[in-house]
Amino acid sequence: MTKGLRVAVAGGGVFGLASALALARAGAQVSLHDPGPGGANASAVAAGMLAPVSEALTDPAAAPHLDLMMAALDLWPAFAQAWNLTLDRRGAVLLGDEARLAALTQAARTLGLDLPTLKADRSPALPGGYGAAVSGGLRVQADQRIDAASLGALAKAAAALGVRFSPEPPPEDLDWLVVATGPSRDLITEAPELAALEPIKGHILRYGDLAYDGPVLRGPGAYAAPAAGGLLIGATMEAGVSDPQVQDEVASALARTAAGVFPGLANRPWTAAAGVRAATPDGLPLVGPSRAPGVILAAGARRNGWLLAPLAGAMVCAYAKGEDPGIWADRLSAGRFTA
Ligand SMILES: Cc1cc2nc3c(=O)[nH]c(=O)nc-3n(C[C@H](O)[C@H](O)[C@H](O)COP(=O)(O)OP(=O)(O)OC[C@H]3O[C@@H](n4cnc5c(N)ncnc54)[C@H](O)[C@@H]3O)c2cc1C
Repeated sequence: MTKGLRVAVAGGGVFGLASALALARAGAQVSLHDPGPGGANASAVAAGMLAPVSEALTDPAAAPHLDLMMAALDLWPAFAQAWNLTLDRRGAVLLGDEARLAALTQAARTLGLDLPTLKADRSPALPGGYGAAVSGGLRVQADQRIDAASLGALAKAAAALGVRFSPEPPPEDLDWLVVATGPSRDLITEAPELAALEPIKGHILRYGDLAYDGPVLRGPGAYAAPAAGGLLIGATMEAGVSDPQVQDEVASALARTAAGVFPGLANRPWTAAAGVRAATPDGLPLVGPSRAPGVILAAGARRNGWLLAPLAGAMVCAYAKGEDPGIWADRLSAGRFTA
């Protein structure tokens, strides 16, 4: 029975909100606790790519998890419809020179995927075209995108369902505490499994005056994503760095790399943001009960928190209700690094 269950969610990023929404919709009394300034987490700065195929091909940590990531993507149409979000289904293009495209084609075949090739002159491009490192692309139709501004819509939907928002710590008197605190270790006493998380900082740039309205373009060292408020260029991977401040020299280096791939970006104004991802040793999040009684974790999504949020939220809700969390429970179990 969920009715009457008292659940507090710590953390108002996309994992916390997806958990709160699933629980509230199932009839639980939910409060969401986050002391951070609104919109200042990794979820708010993300590019919002829901990209199992591109991630499996370009991030070695994601390669073993294509099946799980595809299953997570399958949950998105219903999630978007339930909370009135708009999915961008224009897919992605993986860009590169002949050697990179050959390696990606080979990697795709290993994963059972046959991706159509495009010549640079037939591939969608930013104004200014491509640099010397791009001779063509591979079309990835399966990948999708959601704007990270949707975080506000998720918070509004949660409030409309009766979720109470508070900057204060969760109360003691609960059936469940859901720990969805991203890279923070604040609640490590309540959830010792958080010890498995390492931070990976990321910078991302916004070119507010640049019009591009096409699929995500993923080049060597930089990707370009159309977004509300201006083109996004991402992103750095700074392992072990946990402060979320923008560093001008890191942002400028990303801008230079991006201009090498997309020459139309050179000398255009940009603004930078940074966020800190939390990552486990196997690249998948911790989703499930802690060894501490009454605590469920939902943290550690590395580069794929938006992609995995509907799956994580549904699993958290199933655990709280005492129901079967589904076939990914072992792969995501919260205790797999702290036996
Ligand atoms: C530059 C960049 C680009 C990215 N692009 C993508 C992408 O394209 N697609 C994708 O799927 N993912 C992307 N990601 C990854 C994605 O943003 C993360 O995986 C995801 O946002 C993690 O969500 P979360 O809710 O676990 O954590 P967060 O969004 O970090 O939220 C954690 C929240 O917990 C709160 N908190 C901290 N301590 C406490 C406490 N003690 N009590 C209560 N609350 C607390 C914080 O204030 C914060 O609001 C990107 C990340 C970055 C940095």
